[in-house]
Amino acid sequence: MSDLDTITHYINGAKADTRSGRYADVYNPALGEPVARVALGSVDEVDAAVQAAHAAFPAWADTPPLARARVLAKYLQLCQQHTEEFAAMLTREHGKTLADARGEVARGIEVVEFAVGIPQLLKGEFTDQIARGIDAWSMRQPLGVVTGITPFNFPVMVPMWMFPVALACGNTFVLKPSERDPSPSLLHAELLKKAGLPDGVFNVVQGDKLVVDALLEHPHIQAVSFVGSTPIAEYIYAKGSAYGKRVQALGGAKNHMVVMPDADMDMAVDALMGAAYGSAGERCMAISVVVAIGDAGDALVSALERRTAALKVRDGMAHDAEMGPVVTLAAKQRIERLIGEGVEQGAKLVVDGRNFKVADRPNGFFVGGTLFDHVTPDMTIYKEEIFGPVLCVMRLPDVGSAVELINRNEYGNGVAVFTRDGGVAREFVRQIQVGMVGVNVPLPVPMAFNSFGGWKRSMFGDHHAYGPEGVRFYTRHKAVMQRWPNTATAGAEFAFPQMK
Ligand code: NAD
Repeated sequence: MSDLDTITHYINGAKADTRSGRYADVYNPALGEPVARVALGSVDEVDAAVQAAHAAFPAWADTPPLARARVLAKYLQLCQQHTEEFAAMLTREHGKTLADARGEVARGIEVVEFAVGIPQLLKGEFTDQIARGIDAWSMRQPLGVVTGITPFNFPVMVPMWMFPVALACGNTFVLKPSERDPSPSLLHAELLKKAGLPDGVFNVVQGDKLVVDALLEHPHIQAVSFVGSTPIAEYIYAKGSAYGKRVQALGGAKNHMVVMPDADMDMAVDALMGAAYGSAGERCMAISVVVAIGDAGDALVSALERRTAALKVRDGMAHDAEMGPVVTLAAKQRIERLIGEGVEQGAKLVVDGRNFKVADRPNGFFVGGTLFDHVTPDMTIYKEEIFGPVLCVMRLPDVGSAVELINRNEYGNGVAVFTRDGGVAREFVRQIQVGMVGVNVPLPVPMAFNSFGGWKRSMFGDHHAYGPEGVRFYTRHKAVMQRWPNTATAGAEFAFPQMK
């Protein structure tokens, strides 16, 4: 028996003690020690949560969209009031800096701001007199019980890409958060209840693969939203589809930033520092490869070397921290192994972040900022998603070769081009096979009013997350035709009806 606090499930409006007897430790990565334990759910607990959501669905779906929006508006206010609490939880269990954690909460809140507009977003189309005496219209209706399975790197924001839109559309929800940083899921549940959400509409089952499989197999689950690594995204898409669910599964990434010789180098270097090392590189939109065109490479590498070596790597709670630890000891060991492979395979290690120590946090899972130059496409550090503070510089002669390189890469999440030439930028945007593109913007994460999603092996499924795509994902289209008995009919028609 552990004396650590236990993070439980949340089913039908109340915290639910675990029945499985299985637990996992939750670490503070800056301290390198467990600070809580999380219950790992069972098939029974999944069933209890899905049944609660199934029972709550008819009344919630019948609630007028404006009334649903008002619950979300109240929840929005509560999220704003609890931003510091969310941020502290994030830093404690994830490791990112407090400033970055506050940014994560703010980006999640934007999706709620979008979702309160649901009465407008759900409006259908109406055509008067589509045939004699007949009117036609379309409407979008909720699916039923939907689930969200989310990754460790944005434990507040990524669930908020999903449930505010799903709930606004009239669905009920079961969240399966990452077992590495599960606490924010229960704060979401508590705040939603305080905002007036009826019991059973939002539920949380903590856990691992066993819980995910039980959700994918459950007959009452209508749709699955997943965000995580590519192998698991592919698995979720295949299995969820085989069980007849609608699935959107967002996967991993390898994001390039192309720097043209005419780019504003100071702007490009500032952008790279934040985009490569912010959140210790543990962002699906992190830039992990810089493609320096022509003679841009030397100026870039010398500026990056100086700045990377001077990064302030600390406990994320420290007021001046620029970068915190990575999430687990296993992640630190994997990143350091990949750095070693980069050296063995011939890349030039300019700044080495291995064996990095933070004085007052001797057991923390820290990796220092790492910079490689002269990386080539055959190297493991180019091919694999490292998901750590490692930036690879590649050198190519022209933008055409950069476009070819990026289009050959298996991932297609984010990309950026830095240049002062509008013609180059325009052609780059048109030719590149990537879902989210920045022009002099390193992390082109769409705001909540647009939609988020990658191409190729960064996303499986048809609908991107949140924004208008989210509304389409969480609803289905119904087409209606109506005629009233006081209109003239031609009697029984045995031929397929035609307009006369
Ligand atoms: P992960 O794939 O290990 O885990 C994601 C979720 O899947 C978790 O809830 C986890 O419990 C569950 N899971 C893990 N193994 C499973 C298995 N074998 N079967 C069923 N479920 C399983 O990802 P992570 O390490 O938590 O997150 C980092 C990854 O997520 C990176 O690859 C990153 O690029 C990606 N990511 C992508 C986006 C995006 O929008 N494309 C956003 C954030 C993170």
